[in-house]
Amino acid sequence: RAKELGGNRYEVADPDADARAITRHGLTNRLPEALERGEFFVEYQPLIGLENGAVLGAEALVRWGHPVHGVLGPDQFIPLAESTGQIVPLGRWVLEQAARQARTWQSEHPGAGRPPRVNVNLSPIQLHHRDLVAEVAGVLDETGLPPGSLCLEVTESALIGADEDALKPLRRIADLGVAIALDDFGTGYSNLSSLRWLPVSVLKLDRAFTRGMRRHPADPVDLKIVEGIVSLAHSLDLTVTVEGVETRAQAEHLRALGCDHGQGWYYARPGPPEALHRLSLADAG
Ligand code: C2E
Ligand code: MG
Ligand code: MG
Ligand code: MG
Repeated sequence: RAKELGGNRYEVADPDADARAITRHGLTNRLPEALERGEFFVEYQPLIGLENGAVLGAEALVRWGHPVHGVLGPDQFIPLAESTGQIVPLGRWVLEQAARQARTWQSEHPGAGRPPRVNVNLSPIQLHHRDLVAEVAGVLDETGLPPGSLCLEVTESALIGADEDALKPLRRIADLGVAIALDDFGTGYSNLSSLRWLPVSVLKLDRAFTRGMRRHPADPVDLKIVEGIVSLAHSLDLTVTVEGVETRAQAEHLRALGCDHGQGWYYARPGPPEALHRLSLADAG
């Protein structure tokens, strides 16, 4: 793929397209080196229990502190890393970092009601990589993180059309005791019936669902839709997490609708791991 880009570079007439190609090419080429040089870092966004506002843990979100371009968000390099396969070592690194960090939170807060947990995003490419199960088991083993304190987030679209073979690794990971969340739920083909046989225990509702709840009163149709999803999810024993909670009104509506967990700027932006302490991790129930 990188070769293709490199080969095409000089044939592109449009100078902007050329610049874009070189940038993409440059970023892609530098990924392995950047990993070695420690240019990536992980931010953590708190995960909140809607009922009492307790901090339950956090989602790990990767960033690239690029020496020339500044801090790049995942949307700017994950697709490139996926197209070259570099997402495999990068994803493994994020998983290790996050597991180690969660273990640190746990040892710093031994009295916490339920040990702080960590969520890590998995790319579909990782899902199809044959070492995934061994890697997850290995990281849990090395860090000593209890499997129940780890949740792997997989997007709906990554599982679309996945047959039983493709789901096998995910099932084996779930059998280890690791939670699997269906991320960005509602943005793909929401095949609700597939929830019955996917090895997921958490539904992460996309923030599109909460747009109409930014203030009081909320859009009645949006309320109905979320109410229906929550009731279905709960009847299947799934936990419902809502992402992108930006206002107090949204938090109130979502709690009233029975959503379990929330994440978003209203509570906290993604930040360094220390920021979690300031959010009363010790009170997590
Ligand atoms: P995601 O897993 O759905 O993560 C949530 C995204 O929403 C994050 O963007 C987060 O910063 C942002 N967000 C959080 N609260 C709010 C809010 O209240 N309002 C709004 N508008 N946005 C909010 P971010 O960090 O840019 O990550 C984007 C996506 O990149 C993630 O979406 C995830 O799919 C992917 N990603 C991040 N880290 C990793 C990783 O380590 N591996 C893989 N494969 N993908 C990752
Ligand atoms: Mg996620
Ligand atoms: Mg999401
Ligand atoms: Mg999202």
